[in-house]
Order: sequence, then C-alpha cells, then structure tokens
Amino acid sequence: MNLHEYQAKELLSRNGVNTPEGQVCDTPAEAKNIAEKLFGDGHDMVVVKSQIHAGGRGKGTFTSGYQGGVKLLKTADEVEASAKAMLGETLVTKQTGPEGRKVNKILVAAAPAIKKELYLAALLDRAIGRPILMASVEGGMDIEEVAETSPEKILKVVVDPAFGLEAFQARNLAKQLGMSGKLIGQAAKLFQGVYNTYMNCDASLVEINPLCIVELPDGSESLVAVDAKISIDDNALFRHADIVGMRDLEEEAPLEIEAGKFDLSYIKLDGNIACLVNGAGLAMATMDIIQHFGGSPANFLDVGGGASKEQVKAAFKIILSDPNVKGILVNIFGGIMQCDIIASGILAAVEETNLNLPLVVRLEGTNVAIGKKLIEESDLSVIGADSLSEAAKKVVEAVA
Ligand code: GDP
Ligand code: MG
Repeated sequence: MNLHEYQAKELLSRNGVNTPEGQVCDTPAEAKNIAEKLFGDGHDMVVVKSQIHAGGRGKGTFTSGYQGGVKLLKTADEVEASAKAMLGETLVTKQTGPEGRKVNKILVAAAPAIKKELYLAALLDRAIGRPILMASVEGGMDIEEVAETSPEKILKVVVDPAFGLEAFQARNLAKQLGMSGKLIGQAAKLFQGVYNTYMNCDASLVEINPLCIVELPDGSESLVAVDAKISIDDNALFRHADIVGMRDLEEEAPLEIEAGKFDLSYIKLDGNIACLVNGAGLAMATMDIIQHFGGSPANFLDVGGGASKEQVKAAFKIILSDPNVKGILVNIFGGIMQCDIIASGILAAVEETNLNLPLVVRLEGTNVAIGKKLIEESDLSVIGADSLSEAAKKVVEAVA
C-alpha cells in the first residue's frame, strides 16, 4: 500500500525525522489560511504540493496547462491561486502515465532555503537479504538517471536487523555524503529515524528525495526531509490499524479494489491476453510463456489455491471489464482446487457474461478428466489445451 507524502512525513516525524512544518487541505481558502500562519511565523517562502501517489510532480503539467505540481510561493494570495489551479485538476507526470492523476489534496508547507539536495532511502536488498540504507549526494528530481549513468554515486549501508542502524554506521554515511561538524550528529539521528520508520511501519520502501541541507535564518545548517514516499508491505497491514486508516482508495485502480473484495490478486497490465491462474508462481510463468510466444498479457490474476465458483465468476467479470482484452487463457493446476469445480465456474461465467472472445483452457491435476468432460460436453466454444505451451500458442494465435 502506498501513502501520500503528507502521511509519510507524519510517520517519519513520529520517528524523530525532521520535516518542514505544514498541513494538508482540500480547499483554496484553507490553503490561504495555512500559508498566512506560516508567513506569520516568519517563513519567507511556502510550498504548495499536489498530493498524488506518484513522483515527478515538480516537473509535471496539469491537463489544464498549469505548469508544476510543486510550487514555491511568496504570498498567501499566490498560495490560494495555486491551490485553485491544482485542486480537482489532473496532474500528468513521468510516473502517472498519460491519463494523469486527479489532485484531491494539497500540502501547504514551509519552504526552507535549500543549499543541497541529497537522496536517501531505506529498503530491502534482496540479493544480500538484509535491509539497507541507500544514499547519494546527487539527490533531487533525477535520481533514476544517476542510478543508470553513474551507479558509483549511490552509497549503500547494510543493516543487521538484530542491531538496527548503528550510530557509527550512520555517522560514516554522513561523512561519505560530505557532511562535517554538527551536521554529522544530526544526520546520524535522521538516518536512524528513517531506518526505524522503515522497520516500525513494516515498510517495503521509505524514500526521501530530496533530503535537504537547508540554511536557517541564523546562518547555521540543518537537515530536513523535503519530500517523502513510503510503501507499506500489505502482508503486515493487519498490525497497523492506524496506517490502514491512511489508505486512499481514489488512488487505486478500481478493478484492483473490486478484485480485493473477492480475495483475488489482480494487477492490470498493458497487453491484450487476459490470464486466470491459480497460484502466484504459476501466474508469473503463464505471463512469461504468453510473452515467449509473442503475445502480451493483459493482467496478472491469481485466484488462489482453493477458489470457489463465485470467485471464478468474479474473476471473469473483472477480466472482461478491461476493454483491451482480446482473448483469455485459463491455466489451472488442481491441487487443493479441483478441476471440475473450476470447469463449472468457467462455464457459468462464460454463459453469464455472454463471452464472445476466444477462451483457451488448460486444466491439470485433481479431477482433470471430469473437468475436461464438462467443458467438452457444453455447447460453449472453449478451446482446450493439454500443456501450458500449447495453451499459450493457441491463445496467441486466436488473438492475432
Ligand atoms: P517530486 O517532483 O514529486 O519528487 O516532488 P518534490 O517534493 O521532490 O519536489 C520537487 C522539487 O521541488 C525538489 O527537488 C526541490 O527542488 C523543490 N522543492 C520542493 N519542496 C521545496 C521546498 O520546501 N523548498 C525549496 N526551496 N524547494 C523545494
Ligand atoms: Mg521528490
């Protein structure tokens, strides 16, 4: 589950990470109020930030033509006008796809004077099997490019989860990032706060880009998390009721929400061959083999180990609400699941949805003979297949 920037900053600050003072809101009048307070507190500059589940907002463009989903402003009236231009409008960034995302909320925050933009993230290194902190002096809006063109500029600290991020590791990282003096102690505390946020929230990613060295009014330097992104591991949500409360369904694909209601794992993709499979591994293999034979999968759909007839029907309806789908491949291995139950689920779904797309079915395992017989004896047009490659070839041909 992904969080908005303002929510991520709240979790970070609970763990001792310094974030700019600010507030989220959904009307231009509130935005103006918040800005007046911030200016009144002595801040010279205020930033208005579109809250959507996508990065690249700074360089994004609204479909209305308004430039930038992150605006630095000097007066409360400008903040109000900018809020008006963003709220309810659609922001297109590198990460949203051409359809963009509607902005329902904005964050209005104090904008400190930035001296240097760094990159910092806590995540799992799957190769080492341990959490790491990743950092770079090349922070800001183009970190993906840095990772591609000069990977040596990305620093990594491996953390032993039994001990957590140790103070000496955190201080070393600060030095490697070129910090000196008081900033080192501050950075070490912040790095530990970021690591603790990652662990305490069961996050799969905590990313601060940019982490900024800012100049305070007295001329001294300080560190602030200016942007923040957090993704939470869905499997751990049961123990974080407060984080579950942060879920924003408007940011999630409607079909994926619908699938969740039936305990189906569904992820929409760009291709035109829908797959209905039991088991995540088999679903991945099925997508690979479709691709291998020149096709392109329209989705990932795992109906689980012991799907019912109702789930299979729901799965069909979800698959068919994607207008790109030109053919369907059902690949079921009957272990816990029995092939005859799946077969009757498929037949019921085909009938109920008046399916007129090519449907290839490959069944294997428990009660496969009964399942195949059910399909053969029905007068619905279903293409049978005995092996996975035969099934994939047939569906690719049928769609072509
Ligand atoms: P993103 O484009 O979605 O990653 O949004 P960010 O929050 O990272 O903002 C993009 C860029 O805007 C940052 O890299 C900064 O250069 C600038 N920016 C954002 N917030 C502030 C701020 O509070 N002060 C200043 N001076 N610049 C900011
Ligand atoms: Mg950013």
